[in-house]
Amino acid sequence: VRALGLDPADAYALDGEHRTIPFEKRVEPPYELFNLRLLAGVLDASLFGIVGRAMHTCDWLTTSRFCGRCGTQTKRHDSERSMVCPSCGLHVYPRISPAIITLVRRGDLALLASNAKFPGAFYSTLAGFADIGESLEETLVREVREEVGIVVRNVSYFGSQPWPFPNSLMIAFTAEWESGEIVVDPVELSDAKWFAADELPMIPPPLSIARRLIDAWVTEVTEGRPTLPRT
Ligand SMILES: [Zn+2]
Repeated sequence: VRALGLDPADAYALDGEHRTIPFEKRVEPPYELFNLRLLAGVLDASLFGIVGRAMHTCDWLTTSRFCGRCGTQTKRHDSERSMVCPSCGLHVYPRISPAIITLVRRGDLALLASNAKFPGAFYSTLAGFADIGESLEETLVREVREEVGIVVRNVSYFGSQPWPFPNSLMIAFTAEWESGEIVVDPVELSDAKWFAADELPMIPPPLSIARRLIDAWVTEVTEGRPTLPRT
């Protein structure tokens, strides 16, 4: 902490070995604090993964310091990655919050939306957290209907990516428009439109799975569907 030019009094203990500092504290050159989201397009994938894992771990440690059942201060488990309550024995494991992300197609067009929190910054695929009792496919259908008012079909798995902001796992799918016209939920989105591959707006940086979904769609519509070998 001192090496970063910070007052140790500003850092609070996560456990016996680790400390964290509030983000708003300034560090002195040559060190500098960066928002990991802004580094997503700069760091390579393996470094982003390591830093993301550290961020997720810090989030877990800072939010698991007391037992949620009885309020006693927790302790780090000796051999497994959990915080344990010495009073009632509750184990608190790192929380991983699954969220779907989907590129919805209508013919050769794709649905991209601008988030209400960053209006006009860039357009991306729709995303939302899984709710209690839902399959991921049900989450997807519900989120698309809630955010843009359309019904989708043919939900198909694409891939996944840990997303440490602060503790998500993004599970990506493609889907096809079935019915309805876009009606934007103004709480979640500032805009949503159908885009052609040759008239894309600003899109997310390369490391994100949102970008991989968009790039795969662009490749498919510009190069044509891969032909299956005849049998
Ligand atoms: Zn307890």
